[in-house]
Amino acid sequence: MPTSVPCPTCQTTVEWSDKSPFKPFCSERCKLIDLGEWANEEKAIPGEPAVIPDQQPGNDEAY
Ligand SMILES: [Zn+2]
Repeated sequence: MPTSVPCPTCQTTVEWSDKSPFKPFCSERCKLIDLGEWANEEKAIPGEPAVIPDQQPGNDEAY
């Protein structure tokens, strides 16, 4: 009995198996739509620079 999940984008029932290469999405299109929305939400953050956590405590001591 195959497991089915709803497509996060269009709610179409998707069979959770090798027959659905884009699972949990029903198609590549829905996958790209979901990823696009995610990217847009990231861009929506106003003026927030990407902070790289490269500050290691005690690094000055080791110089
Ligand atoms: Zn879909």
